[in-house]
Amino acid sequence: MPRALVTGITGQDGQYLAELLHQKGYEVFGLVKGQNNPRTVLLQEEFPFVEVVGGDLADLSSLVAALESTQPDEVYNLGAISFVALSFRQPELTANVTGLGVLRMLEAIRMVGGADNNPIRFYQASSSEMFGKVRMTPQNEETPFYPRSPYGVAKVFGHDITVNYRDSYGLFACSGILFNHEGPRRGLEFVTRKITNAVARIKLGLQQELALGSLEPQRDWGFAGDYVQAMWLMLQHDEPQDFVVATGQTHSVREFVELAFRAAGIDDWARYVRQDERFMRPAEVDLLVGDAGKARRLLGWAPTMAFPELVETMVSHDIELEQRKERNRRR
Ligand code: NDP
Ligand code: GDP
Repeated sequence: MPRALVTGITGQDGQYLAELLHQKGYEVFGLVKGQNNPRTVLLQEEFPFVEVVGGDLADLSSLVAALESTQPDEVYNLGAISFVALSFRQPELTANVTGLGVLRMLEAIRMVGGADNNPIRFYQASSSEMFGKVRMTPQNEETPFYPRSPYGVAKVFGHDITVNYRDSYGLFACSGILFNHEGPRRGLEFVTRKITNAVARIKLGLQQELALGSLEPQRDWGFAGDYVQAMWLMLQHDEPQDFVVATGQTHSVREFVELAFRAAGIDDWARYVRQDERFMRPAEVDLLVGDAGKARRLLGWAPTMAFPELVETMVSHDIELEQRKERNRRR
């Protein structure tokens, strides 16, 4: 039975990846931080097959201990301060966890190593935010980085140190440069889920308006369930390499809003949306669109869910969720 250690197991991607690895017959270990992390209980209820291991990307010795106790074949480093807006408010924490955390995990892997004939394979969750103020469109593995936030800068460090450890020590280390990916498990702080949840609540008469920052930025939004497949495929490839994972289509926040309201049967969406300075960023990433040709050619990866279906899935999930919460509240 192959063994995988996943950091960020309580996050969106951690949950999809845990399911995928379990289906593939892996023993799944999830690194959880904190002394009484409330998300552990939810994790254990929904994914009882995950074995929880304590540890923190800010603490090297805890990573060494996690590797020693779990002896994984594969490590997926998904843990991060992952919200761009938070990274502007807590840049040092972001650099420490999202950036240096990668170095700590690579050092821990170098120390613990894995069996001689079966070295640990490492996946780093890199991000299209590294492209920032884009130098080329669409963006691929050769596009130079120009990050626009402390999060993007920390991810560039994580990416470069992953490549450096592969070159320097021959580690089987891959960096997946994933474009935005969403789904019903996305955190409510991210714009897609914030929109679909607000649309559901407006539809049910539980909320009057939706306050947003800029509606103009464009993103290449895919479905998270498809993207964790690409992570796994990278670690099964003969050679460790870096891959862009994207749909190749881009849409504005405005288009997402329109489609989400329409999916709930509301056409006059503009009357519910208010622009709010608080959600603007000191520096914006205006346009992201990825070219995943390399992943398609070498890994046989392709996205399965198109943009309209993604929006509709998230809206109908949130309508059901909010209805259920209302029913429970009234009981
Ligand atoms: P989430 O924000 O949903 O999850 C982040 C995870 O990191 C949580 O499990 C969180 O734990 C954990 N974490 C935070 N701080 C630490 C720490 N100090 N030590 C250990 N774990 C920590 O992110 P996603 O699932 O959406 O993304 C997964 C990864 O992929 C992240 O690295 C993200 O930056 C990257 N990425 C995501 C993209 C996307 O569109 N979703 C696009 C490109 C890259 P807790 O719950 O306890 O806070
Ligand atoms: P990001 O691409 O990792 O920053 O993912 P987000 O979902 O946080 O943001 C996507 C885009 O939506 C960014 O360009 C944001 O500036 C924009 N946006 C506009 N309004 C909001 C908002 O209210 N919340 C968030 N999170 N993003 C917003």
